[in-house]
Amino acid sequence: MGLNVIMMGPPGAGKGTQAGRFASDRGLPKISTGDMLREAVRDKNPTALEAKARMDRGELVDDATMIKIVADRLARPDVRDGFVLDGFPRTVAQARALDELMDRLDSGPLIVVDVAVPEQELVRRLAIRRICSRCGSNADPTGGEAACKQCGGTLEQRADDNQDVVLERLRVYQQATRPVLDYYRDRPTFRVVNGAQAPDHVAHELDAMIEDAARRRNGKGGIS
Ligand code: AMP
Repeated sequence: MGLNVIMMGPPGAGKGTQAGRFASDRGLPKISTGDMLREAVRDKNPTALEAKARMDRGELVDDATMIKIVADRLARPDVRDGFVLDGFPRTVAQARALDELMDRLDSGPLIVVDVAVPEQELVRRLAIRRICSRCGSNADPTGGEAACKQCGGTLEQRADDNQDVVLERLRVYQQATRPVLDYYRDRPTFRVVNGAQAPDHVAHELDAMIEDAARRRNGKGGIS
């Protein structure tokens, strides 16, 4: 049975960083729909270029496009032992489509973790966030990096991290994505982690929570 994790949370909660850490610790692919879209924009993919205007305004890309992107990605063989999803699902329609996909793949239940952070803190974090213009990785949020640690590329603010767009993204999160938490909340594999703590602390708690959820999911025996 695969270790299939969804990292939920508002923009700026640190879910991308945590998803990346957990995925690399466990040797699982991290599937970030935001990263996939930004990469496709850099490659001048026509569908992604159409989506870019919506992304730049802080709006969601349409469900059909996003569901197709994720369905294609989950059809690849590297997800056999599991995956960590970051940024999907963002609507209840996407969550329903993912459930159907998981049934078809027959790879076990989803473990859903909500990385919860108060809104004031999100606004503060997004204002200082910088990403690499070449490879898209996040810079150290405490600043002090002149260039990307991964590839030496120039650091810049994400087009959708300016203040007006951030407020729109938070509004869209409340309206479209919060209901996804209610969709998952009653499942025995749903967990909430306090994302306002130091990243190492969050990672530690997350790891224990996912381990526990996987154990329950399996009856008792730990992650298989
Ligand atoms: P992120 O990097 O996860 O904050 O995503 C950046 C932007 O990509 C979002 O603001 C949306 O415009 C778009 N996006 C990413 N994932 C999704 C999704 N699952 N559904 C709709 N739009 C998405």
